[in-house]
Amino acid sequence: MKAEIITVGTEILLGDIVNTNSQYLAKELASLGIDVYYQSSVGDNENRLLQSFKESLKRSDIVITTGGLGPTNDDITKEVACKYFDKELELHKPSWDKIEFFFNKLGIEITENNKKQAYFPKDSIILQNKNGTAPGVVLEKNEKIIIVLPGPPKEMKSMFENEVKPYLQKLTDSVLVSKTLRAFGIGESTLEDKIIDLIQNQTNPTIAPYVGDMEVRLRVMAKAKTEKEGQELIEPVVKNIKDRVGQYIYAEGDTSIEEVVSKMLVEKNMTIATAESCTGGLVSATLINYPGISSVFMEGCVTYSNEAKIMRLGVKEETLEKYGAVSEETAREMAEGIARNFDTNIGLSTTGVAGPEGGTKEKPVGLVYVGIYINGKTTVKKYAFNGDRQGIRLRATKNLLNDLRVQLLEL
Ligand code: ATP
Repeated sequence: MKAEIITVGTEILLGDIVNTNSQYLAKELASLGIDVYYQSSVGDNENRLLQSFKESLKRSDIVITTGGLGPTNDDITKEVACKYFDKELELHKPSWDKIEFFFNKLGIEITENNKKQAYFPKDSIILQNKNGTAPGVVLEKNEKIIIVLPGPPKEMKSMFENEVKPYLQKLTDSVLVSKTLRAFGIGESTLEDKIIDLIQNQTNPTIAPYVGDMEVRLRVMAKAKTEKEGQELIEPVVKNIKDRVGQYIYAEGDTSIEEVVSKMLVEKNMTIATAESCTGGLVSATLINYPGISSVFMEGCVTYSNEAKIMRLGVKEETLEKYGAVSEETAREMAEGIARNFDTNIGLSTTGVAGPEGGTKEKPVGLVYVGIYINGKTTVKKYAFNGDRQGIRLRATKNLLNDLRVQLLEL
């Protein structure tokens, strides 16, 4: 079964809004095992929308639209879909009653054009809108289907989840089950190389690497009759991948490194403090994104100047003079100093050249030292990052947190 998504709205074409509806629907359709080969966006224009329906339904069995279901004259999606299928619209009294009730409840005066939202063809399936007034609709003709959904994501998502999904599940006899493994600290090609035989020999499930935000994601996806059968196909392959490259895989699904690390800190009850130079608070801000971190996070210092490193962290003057602020020795004393201040289990530090100015031959832009003190033992790692100032700070933060994750695993 093939489906297409048409998002309707001039706002999308002008770049005024991000087309998150397409992304959501594409993901949902993939998980239902429905192939999506085309997506399009079209403005609120009858002729162009008719043309889009024509092209899409030539290629596919189902078209799902979002947007243009509102009460005003330029909201035309439902009317154009009915025109395309040559279906008459008529007032659907139960829908009108609901719209009236909705307006009365909010104390808003109802206007005549709101009635438009209660018009549907006789033989259509009307989709309830739990979060707004405009119902959606499923139109069927000659084995082709148009599903018309509202534009506001909150309304569209709940309508899809509650009404469209069960309808589509009945039409398809397979499901796609997938798991995404998230890897950090390894490049896409190196990772692929380590599992290339698996990628090439697998047809169901398939394994596909994707480059994400400073990380690589591996999606393992199986087509099966049931969710359970899909999971059973996926699990041995996931295990095989983890046996080979498990040290790089920090999570499954939507979890971020900072979530993984923060959770570990809280679960292990390891207190922590941070002393940051080039990252300027990013490490502490990232950790503090995790809601439960207050039980272990003690202090975050932005010790940017040499004076601050000396005064706040007890970094020795001769260390700074001899090795410089951006050095392994300074990173070490910073991590140890901040842990000492609050007697925490862990002290983290960053010091580096974030650029764009300030780089030298010996210490170029992108050179960053990150220090980790854990219960009496300190390790310092040297990194050479590419990118602009913000990118270097982000990379330093993510790498430091990943290094901490790896060390916490070994405790
Ligand atoms: P309304 O009854 O609010 O007019 P509608 O079904 O007619 O809803 P539109 O008018 O096309 O939908 O869009 C309403 C709002 O929904 C937009 O301003 C935008 O915020 C959001 N929206 C519409 N389409 C999309 C999309 N493809 N992705 C994300 N948001 C969208």
